[in-house]
Amino acid sequence: MKTILPTNDNTCGWHEIIAKRLVNKSLQGQIKADWVIVGAGYTGLSTARSLALLHPNKHIVLIDAQRAGEGASARNSGYLVDSTLNDGHLSDTGLSAYYNKYQLNKAGLEAARTLVNEHNINCDWSEIGKIHATAMPQNEAKLQCFSEILTELKLDHNVLDNAQLKNRLGTSYYCLGVETKGAVMLQPASLAQGLINILPDNVTLFENSPMLNWQPIKVNGNKAYQINCLSGSIISPGVIFAINGFMPSNNLAKHRVFPLTLTASLTRPLTDAEFESIGQPEQWGVLSAQAMGATVRLTQDRRLMIRNTAEVWRPMSMSTTELEQRKLIHIEGLLKRFPHLPASAIEYTWSGITCISQNNANIFSRIDENVFAAGCYNGGGIGLGILYGQEMATYASGGTSTLINMIQDRPKPKKLPPQPFLNWGIAIKLAKDRYFAAKER
Ligand SMILES: Cc1cc2nc3c(=O)[nH]c(=O)nc-3n(C[C@H](O)[C@H](O)[C@H](O)COP(=O)(O)OP(=O)(O)OC[C@H]3O[C@@H](n4cnc5c(N)ncnc54)[C@H](O)[C@@H]3O)c2cc1C
Repeated sequence: MKTILPTNDNTCGWHEIIAKRLVNKSLQGQIKADWVIVGAGYTGLSTARSLALLHPNKHIVLIDAQRAGEGASARNSGYLVDSTLNDGHLSDTGLSAYYNKYQLNKAGLEAARTLVNEHNINCDWSEIGKIHATAMPQNEAKLQCFSEILTELKLDHNVLDNAQLKNRLGTSYYCLGVETKGAVMLQPASLAQGLINILPDNVTLFENSPMLNWQPIKVNGNKAYQINCLSGSIISPGVIFAINGFMPSNNLAKHRVFPLTLTASLTRPLTDAEFESIGQPEQWGVLSAQAMGATVRLTQDRRLMIRNTAEVWRPMSMSTTELEQRKLIHIEGLLKRFPHLPASAIEYTWSGITCISQNNANIFSRIDENVFAAGCYNGGGIGLGILYGQEMATYASGGTSTLINMIQDRPKPKKLPPQPFLNWGIAIKLAKDRYFAAKER
């Protein structure tokens, strides 16, 4: 497979509405390091920080193909979750597997909370929970089952009917919802920037420095690795890959995970009149109970965000024309919920690449003697990216922990069919989901 490299674009609303930081220089010439981390999203930033703190006398080099933190880590919807929707009918083993997953997500949430609190990272951190809702009566049973599971696991939640949802959200679109209390809503680009700002001094970050390939070499008779970038290279005895959706195009976890391109839009802040017309609700976040249904948020600064497309798309990022086409789908989704909102309210539309495995499994593995990879959090990844980064630093240093054991006990990504059957299969599945989610997009 041809290497596909991420590139900068200035489309992502979360990033465009915050103050810009000074971008670090790109890698030039050949350098040496004690560790190289490839990919500076949540996972790579968290790995770099933890590794640097574990080894204060070692030099850690972190590289990113584009500006750091501006991949999926700035482009996501900002739901830092503990529980995930589960449609019930679970056996006891199923229930305990679900609880293990919940515990890992919760540990990810706590890892993020600790960093945000300790370093005063300003990322609109809001402990308001999230709402799983549906506009389709046939999904109500799914939500009721989810509520039963949450009850069984003693996880705080409320079931909301149409009137309660209208009051909470300012739209009468949804018929039933389950509000779970544990989740946090945040500004994803601000969190990524915060993680860049707290990199320790023994980390050197090179931005706009795409890795083209890597190879094992010998240095003074010892095994090392050479990471070849566009205009330089790094020689190091250890490498950690944190490139998420770009793993397969870099020959990592190639038949285990695949990239999916999502698009989202963010409106300008609602005017006072618009805000009053929806009843001036507190900020909220809704996830659809239907696969491929829309994720919709009202932010702290009264913007609406919607994400309702997912595609297998190469070269993965989208042109202006392609984004304009997706924006029409976002407008349609917003107008279903807020018919009085003008289409022109949308200020930003962007695409982002997430990483998926067939069985919702993650990557946390050793690839070669001293080469490791972490990533593939499926729909999630804010908390898990930070957590897996921290635990990867320990694991790559030869250590262990209860959390590492929990991560390793999780199922591994199942083998995927070869191309082109894989892309055909995903396209058919997405088309089917889109058909059934038509009302809920
Ligand atoms: C639209 C969208 C909505 C989402 N919503 C949510 C949500 O609400 N909640 C949630 O928890 N998760 C969400 N996710 C998923 C979440 O964003 C990811 O799981 C998370 O950002 C993964 O972090 P990461 O650091 O592993 O990967 P990324 O943020 O993708 O970082 C990988 C980095 O690797 C770099 N890279 C790739 N190839 C190379 C190379 N060859 N050389 C150098 N650098 C390279 C990239 O430039 C990128 O910066 C969403 C994702 C998308 C796209």
